Amino acid sequence: MTTQLRTRMVSEFICLADKCEDTCCKHWSMQVDPVTLERYKKEAPELLGAVEQDSDNTYIMRKDKQTGYCVKFEDGICKIHKERGEGFLSDACNFYPRITRTAGDALIMTATMSCPEIARIALYGNEPFVFDETLFARVPFEVRNVLPDGMTQNDIIEIHKLFMQATGDETASAEKIFARIASVSRSLQRLEKKDWVRAAGLYFRLAESSIPQPEENINDPFNLLHSLCGLVVASQKNIPPRLQQTISDMEEALHVRLDWENILIHTSDESADAYNKLHALWKNEMQENFQPLLKRWLGAQLSSSLYPFAGLGESLTERVTIIGVRFAILRLALISVYSISNSQLHQDDVVRIVQSLSRFLDHLADPKFSLEIYGEAGWTKENRMLGLLN
Ligand code: SF4
Repeated sequence: MTTQLRTRMVSEFICLADKCEDTCCKHWSMQVDPVTLERYKKEAPELLGAVEQDSDNTYIMRKDKQTGYCVKFEDGICKIHKERGEGFLSDACNFYPRITRTAGDALIMTATMSCPEIARIALYGNEPFVFDETLFARVPFEVRNVLPDGMTQNDIIEIHKLFMQATGDETASAEKIFARIASVSRSLQRLEKKDWVRAAGLYFRLAESSIPQPEENINDPFNLLHSLCGLVVASQKNIPPRLQQTISDMEEALHVRLDWENILIHTSDESADAYNKLHALWKNEMQENFQPLLKRWLGAQLSSSLYPFAGLGESLTERVTIIGVRFAILRLALISVYSISNSQLHQDDVVRIVQSLSRFLDHLADPKFSLEIYGEAGWTKENRMLGLLN
């Protein structure tokens, strides 16, 4: 029998429906897979009016041009789901925020923090990343196989678990754990994949000795915000209100202004001082308290991408660079909101910050442009990347 696994956060997930603060039924192009389209043609032709083709000729759910909501979204819930049942939902609508992959004969389901409820469970739930064995009632029409040549499904699960275990080390900071993960990733990349299972454990034991000295740059915090601005503009999408709030809070805390039209960041005479104060706030007041949260966040990044076997980026170096820059952006956002709200950061604020960044960054069509920007800032070098998290 096929092994079927899902993370505990997937087992516990229940869609917030009309209570959701940032529904996935708004603004997104939810694809309609060929099986669902065929079903509409045969069994529910009246639903074909809710489907259209985008500029790539992909079938997607039609959105209301005024509101951005899916045309089948009514009173906070999906009308197809309500009237026809989940069997009539396309894979994208049915499975989001879950991500299904195969590794040989194993089916593995994880989830993304771009959904507010998954972000909440991942950050504050009980053991959200452990695997539960299950039997899936439905499997997506198209599932990506991440099993490399020369590996077995057990190898994949074993290596992934080593990375996940690394995030649970209570004796090390989240930043140190990230540095170890970056080091092991770079070491594994030098090997053939068939040798990973033999080497991964050893590399984790030796990781500490191969972490380079972090190299900071005074412009890094401003470049982080500027890079986010560049990515938003390049995505050609409207900036969602929750992300807008996160970015505005960072502008205010850093005493800078983003010029969205020309993709510029304007610093002021107070900007350098403002960042020094934020950095001191982090070191003296926040760092220790926020460690469990940051480790959970790191765990969620690895879990959702079945790290190191999937995720944004072609190679392990690219994948870990993308995670590292996101880590630094998240930390800067948390410090910014904490400082401007007079040291108050509630669970809802944290979920909003994490989810709003994740909704934008997890769904960038192509990581190449991100990596280009990160390369120009120097963050594709390991020591510079670690400097971002110093
Ligand atoms: S974002 Fe998550 S909680 Fe909100 S409507 Fe979509 S699946 Fe449900």
